[in-house]
Amino acid sequence: MLSVVIPSYNEAGLVLPAAQTIGTILAEAHIEYELLFVDDGSRDGTWAEIQAAHRENAAVRGLRFSRNFGKEAAIFAGLRYARGACCAVIDCDLQHPPEKLPEMVRLWEQGYAVVNGVKADRGTESAAYGLAARCFNALMSRAARIDMRRSSDFKLLDRQVVDALLDLPERKTFFRALVGWAGYRSIDVPFEVRDRSVGQSHFSTLSLIRYALSNLTAYSCAPMQIITALGGLFLVLAVVLGIQTLVRWASGTAADGFTTVILLLLLIGSILMIGLGIIGYYIAQIFLEIKARPRYLVAETCGAGGERHGS
Ligand code: UDP
Ligand code: MG
Repeated sequence: MLSVVIPSYNEAGLVLPAAQTIGTILAEAHIEYELLFVDDGSRDGTWAEIQAAHRENAAVRGLRFSRNFGKEAAIFAGLRYARGACCAVIDCDLQHPPEKLPEMVRLWEQGYAVVNGVKADRGTESAAYGLAARCFNALMSRAARIDMRRSSDFKLLDRQVVDALLDLPERKTFFRALVGWAGYRSIDVPFEVRDRSVGQSHFSTLSLIRYALSNLTAYSCAPMQIITALGGLFLVLAVVLGIQTLVRWASGTAADGFTTVILLLLLIGSILMIGLGIIGYYIAQIFLEIKARPRYLVAETCGAGGERHGS
């Protein structure tokens, strides 16, 4: 059976069409399936719509978070509740084309453990957004040592991979990077990103910057290495400038005036502050991980059965 995990946050009006479209496509391809909607603490009629979809089609199941925990949490909750031998993750707004699912399942049957949906184009994004996304993905690809440039959350995973991901103890998850990290036999399936039919993206520019920063620091120590490298560079400069100053002092032509001193103090002060900030950021991450709070809280479920695994 294929479990399709569908994170949904304030998607009233999109849940029923999504359930119908995906259900029809899979039924026509003779694929046994369940649709697992994860209501990520929506404040509109999303949960009522998931329940309606469940009444209409018993293969639809749902869980509702106690509040908004974010898409990552919703994906992992869905994977934990999924019962299929393989699990797909797809957006509720159908920007990921469900017509690709039968093809992905066929590839899985051929023995691929991970089928990655990769963006053939990046849809209608602004140039600035595209550039920022490319920069982040390039940095992340180097940090996590996987190619993330065209990656998306549209994936199909074998049960073995799902179980491996669910066994990870970390709280801060980044689904795309973790699937790449896990490895296994994988293949890419290109898809065209569609436009959103109703509503707009839930991610503001600020939330994307925060998301990028926290993911980068969760997967890489590169920012600290950059600061260390900068420190090394300044040491070299310090030695050169120190020797020059001493020579000029000895020859009685020492530079006068405070300008140099002020500039150096400001420069070194700000680099030290940035360095401290970066270290502080990592300590905050350790702090958040060590508290080991659950990634999400489930308030309600609909459709028979609970978690396949312990929590
Ligand atoms: N989503 C979620 N929790 C959130 C934000 C988004 O579960 O806090 C879901 C949303 O319902 C959708 C998917 O994540 O199914 C992608 O969100 P969206 O379409 O807003 O983002 P974009 O397409 O811009 O990446
Ligand atoms: Mg979308």
